[in-house]
Amino acid sequence: SKRVAILTSGGDAPGMNACIRASIIACQKANYTLLGYKHGYNGLLQQEYIPLSLDSTHNLIQQGGTILHSARCKELKSHEGIKKAANNLMKAEIDTLIVIGGDGSFRGAAEIGKEWKGQILGIPGTIDNDISGTDATIGYFTAIDTAMSSIDKVRDTADAFERIFLIEVMGRNAGFLALNAALSSAADYVVVPEFFESADKEIEKIVTQIKAQRALKGPVSFIVVVAENVWPKGLSGLTEELMKHDISDVRPVTLGHVQRGGSPVAQDRLLATTLGEFAISLVGSDITNIMVGEVNQRPVTVPLHKTWENTKPLNEAHVEAMRTLMNERYSSW
Ligand code: ATP
Repeated sequence: SKRVAILTSGGDAPGMNACIRASIIACQKANYTLLGYKHGYNGLLQQEYIPLSLDSTHNLIQQGGTILHSARCKELKSHEGIKKAANNLMKAEIDTLIVIGGDGSFRGAAEIGKEWKGQILGIPGTIDNDISGTDATIGYFTAIDTAMSSIDKVRDTADAFERIFLIEVMGRNAGFLALNAALSSAADYVVVPEFFESADKEIEKIVTQIKAQRALKGPVSFIVVVAENVWPKGLSGLTEELMKHDISDVRPVTLGHVQRGGSPVAQDRLLATTLGEFAISLVGSDITNIMVGEVNQRPVTVPLHKTWENTKPLNEAHVEAMRTLMNERYSSW
């Protein structure tokens, strides 16, 4: 019988619990022991773990966050940290380590794989969807939904006052969340890192667009969705730039951490469940140092290093649709 350990690391994402639940149930069926390290890699370094059994699964599928807690862990970025992790896995007689997290967490896992002979499986869990080798990551769908509903609400007040709103959406250094939130909430403009050339070029397009709309319809609301970490000095920088073009009465809204929370939507629960189940089906095989993912509705395995070495492109159809909405004159889009 195998001993499997699981942990959640990096930014938490809705559906991590659903994935833990699926893993518990699959381990039970296969008669494996499942341990949960707490607080990401910190639990592995401190030997802080709890047994996970069917007692823990009740109502778990619908809970946001992660019952194992997540954390960043500085110590793991040192060679000593990696050695300690490998040693602790040996001492706890773990056969398989499962890491649910983003690309940073996978880098850590790959480093541990250099020092430890056991099996390592990654499961993509991040609202950013910025992991190559899988169509989606656990948490992404819920985050789109949360951002969309928030933008819908902002639109109500924007319409009432015929105001311009700038809405910052998460996504680390990728535009998946911003693009999809903008498309599904019918925002007027979106700024994403994949197409950002310079603040000057972008401001020109936004101003032209706002002025064109106003010339046509009089005062109207206008919603610009901005991916985080793109605009120099963020939303206040963009507000200043607009002022320089005589566009005032601009309201900035940063959606922030609401995007990381909440009960997972069905798509995230389904992805989390299939990936958890699939990962446990690989326990004991010679497949290691991989991430499990889903491509075209089929489970796949991807070498860990490919998940961060390759850059995942935005969905071309979504880009096309947004381009049309934003006005095709803007050729860089
Ligand atoms: P998200 O992008 O959703 O926040 P993430 O997994 O990318 O998730 P990070 O903070 O980048 O989040 O990484 C999580 C943890 O993984 C770090 O705190 C660290 O412990 C470990 N880690 C990241 N990069 C490395 C690395 N190069 N070597 C060893 N460990 C790493």
